[in-house]
Amino acid sequence: MRVTLLGTGDTTGTPTVGCDCDTCARARELGVERSRFSVHVENTRTGECLLVDLSPDFRQQFLTHDVSLPDEAVVTHIHFDHLDGLGNAYRVFDDLPVHAASEVDPVTGESVADTIRRKYDYLDRITVEDHAPFERFSACGFECTLVPVDHPPLVCYGLAVEDPETGAKLSLTGDTSYGVPDESRTVLSDPDLLLADAIVPASLCEYHPLGGKHENEAGVPRTFGSKHMTREGALDLARELGARETRLVHTAHFYPADEAFEEPLAVDGEQYDL
Ligand SMILES: [Zn+2]
Ligand SMILES: [Zn+2]
Ligand SMILES: [Zn+2]
Repeated sequence: MRVTLLGTGDTTGTPTVGCDCDTCARARELGVERSRFSVHVENTRTGECLLVDLSPDFRQQFLTHDVSLPDEAVVTHIHFDHLDGLGNAYRVFDDLPVHAASEVDPVTGESVADTIRRKYDYLDRITVEDHAPFERFSACGFECTLVPVDHPPLVCYGLAVEDPETGAKLSLTGDTSYGVPDESRTVLSDPDLLLADAIVPASLCEYHPLGGKHENEAGVPRTFGSKHMTREGALDLARELGARETRLVHTAHFYPADEAFEEPLAVDGEQYDL
């Protein structure tokens, strides 16, 4: 399994357009980028490629990185930065199977799969395939499982991707607070690589109107506001899941410039062989 991080930023990315903060300036100096979230997973046994989330930066990501277009895709949730790149399927794919959860979101009255079908009803190049949370399904020769996480007010899912032949395992938390349910943690546990949402360091919780929550023993918040993990929360979760390697993703330009490019914060283009 070869994992390429195509997009490692939050919804505005780094650099953010129109922003001259120190972190965006530093990214330009270093020549690194954190575009909107997407992960490319190649099955090196079969040559098939799975894309996790469809970034609005899809076109640039596939022009920049030496990876093949996906054979199938999975969508974690319906936020702009994870779904709106799907319009790129038009005239690029003949048929792209798109896997998504079938559970109805009480907020929207639709499942993620339903929303994709409705928003992209003009796209005859995609086939949406519904899966219940915790149901294993097969995609690109991998065994995949979508598991509920905590990203209020919308439903959102983490994802485990396993190669049944080699035993390699990739886990993604999806956009989530630290409040990942135990049953979901069980499915995500013991990955070779964990990609964990870590939008900002815990020190920034004082600037969020809701503050932070899910404090650890030292009083450090593991959740920023209600929707995302802090860096500290993501690292605690990684430890609890027993991740062999962890990269922090979905990071914002609000990280102070001297912390924004430290390990284990990911940047676009990183590649891992599991
Ligand atoms: Zn900035
Ligand atoms: Zn989101
Ligand atoms: Zn997001």
